[in-house]
Amino acid sequence: MVAQIIDGKMFAASVREKVGGHVARLKSEHNIVPGLAVVLVGEDPASQVYVRSKGKQTVEVGMKSVEHKLKAETSESDLLALIKLLNNDVTIHGILVQLPLPKHLNEDLVINSIDPTKDVDGFHISNVGLLGTGQKSMVPCTPLGCLMLLRDHYGSLSGLDAVVIGRSNIVGKPMAQLLVGDNCTVTIAHSRTKNLPDVIRRADIVIAAVGRPRMIIGDWIKPGATIIDVGINRIDKPEGGTRLIGDTDFASCCEVSGAITPVPGGVGPMTIACLLANTVTACCRANNLQEPDGLTA
Ligand code: NDP
Repeated sequence: MVAQIIDGKMFAASVREKVGGHVARLKSEHNIVPGLAVVLVGEDPASQVYVRSKGKQTVEVGMKSVEHKLKAETSESDLLALIKLLNNDVTIHGILVQLPLPKHLNEDLVINSIDPTKDVDGFHISNVGLLGTGQKSMVPCTPLGCLMLLRDHYGSLSGLDAVVIGRSNIVGKPMAQLLVGDNCTVTIAHSRTKNLPDVIRRADIVIAAVGRPRMIIGDWIKPGATIIDVGINRIDKPEGGTRLIGDTDFASCCEVSGAITPVPGGVGPMTIACLLANTVTACCRANNLQEPDGLTA
């Protein structure tokens, strides 16, 4: 079998188009412009790249983009004061604090100071609780992107066996909850899981969110299964320089699986697209307007 490649880049473009269409309607029919504020503390190079890309795509879909770049030594009280301002700003519908934060800042405290209705990353404890109890919440962007790809591929996920490898708060756990919400039978695997290959071999859907290059090999995959590779690992190229690869051994997994997301070009582009989707959803909710279909869980 040769796997179908799930094109996350193309799907993300279709999500952005849908978001852009909704933003245009909000403007023309209600005179509302959704606004996203991104807060970056410090000079982490990877975070700077993400923030630039988020700002650019926010503007491209017609939304207002605000960037707050703070010095690495910013105090917790100054950061909390800025978040309070953004919470009270009616032109801002989404607030994202780029993680990781410098060590002297308490990440949980900072994230939980964001108004949960503007928490477009879905990391606020209220949103974690709402998602865990199957209620309407802001859904973390990466798992939401994976869910969209799977729904598009299968139509209905009901009754499928899924394994999520990784139990982080930002990917693994919310991913598992979303799959349960769509009536999958879900196993969460992690570093203490026994017989991981056997656990993976039972699954129709494999979500790899580990952060270990090429860890999952084709021999562990049930024939025809769908693989969503969340992993982003930078490795050295033999000819010099570096490149990104996923958690799956792409070549051997392609021979056995029915469909697979590539790295890059799979889950990655979906994450920012879902951030834009969450911002437009938050804006609609704040204004008691109907949410666009297909942009949340
Ligand atoms: P974490 O490091 O927080 O979590 C990794 C998880 O993998 C942990 O639960 C860990 O288990 C588990 N794990 C580690 N080693 C093994 C092993 N040998 N067997 C089974 N499980 C193992 O990572 P994140 O969840 O933040 O991210 C995971 C990957 O996804 C990374 O590569 C990251 O870069 C990428 N990522 C990609 C995004 C995108 O937009 N595409 C967005 C976010 C993340 P334990 O809990 O027992 O330690």
